Amino acid sequence: MARYWDTTNYPQPTDEELKANAKATAKKAADKGKEFHPIIISGRTIAKSWWGKAWCDNLERYADYDTRLPRGRRYVKTGAVVDLQINKGKILARVQGTRKTPYKIEIRISPLSEQQIERITDRCGTKVENLAKLLDGDFPTELKEIFIGEGGLFPKSREISFNCSCPDWAVMCKHVAATLYGVGARLDEDPLLFFSLRGVDTDRFVNVVIDNRCETMLANIDKPSSRILNNIDLSEIFGIC
Ligand SMILES: [Zn+2]
Repeated sequence: MARYWDTTNYPQPTDEELKANAKATAKKAADKGKEFHPIIISGRTIAKSWWGKAWCDNLERYADYDTRLPRGRRYVKTGAVVDLQINKGKILARVQGTRKTPYKIEIRISPLSEQQIERITDRCGTKVENLAKLLDGDFPTELKEIFIGEGGLFPKSREISFNCSCPDWAVMCKHVAATLYGVGARLDEDPLLFFSLRGVDTDRFVNVVIDNRCETMLANIDKPSSRILNNIDLSEIFGIC
């Protein structure tokens, strides 16, 4: 027997209704001077990069009702995620639904342990090429294990919790699902956000590379070459002074 809070058979808002509500919310926010960061999906695919896709594929492990995932996909594609912000250990979002006021979603993810952070920082920081790619918005496939492997950046079910202001009692309602798909799309643009989300300070990568470079320089101190001197020109590598 269906429980009264099971919204499986409730009428779902149409794409047009969602779009109209999202537009009205965006206008209201702009009028009030609020800065919203909406998820805008162009084309049929939510995430295009391998890491964004891997994140979206991974969401099934958190779902308790399988109807919520396809609804979440429709919502994010329709532009219902009117605001999404990724911070350390926390994702905050507003997702449009049937009513005019968007629902508020908070997703909490446990930060990684110091030991896990050290391992990830070491792996990412050992090669300038990988670091440069990451800073440039590309997650090198060589570092795939850091993303999906054991002790990697993917949160396990017990490391993630959801909260939504809607009346659906499912652990993952469609608004949470839409938010999580939105995270996949946001990660496409900036994979470093995933490190921040898990509590990894990306500046540490840079420090690790600088340390490694200094070690190389010291090891080669008796045989200086213009190549090595050029390599340690950090301002050129990282664009910093
Ligand atoms: Zn909800």
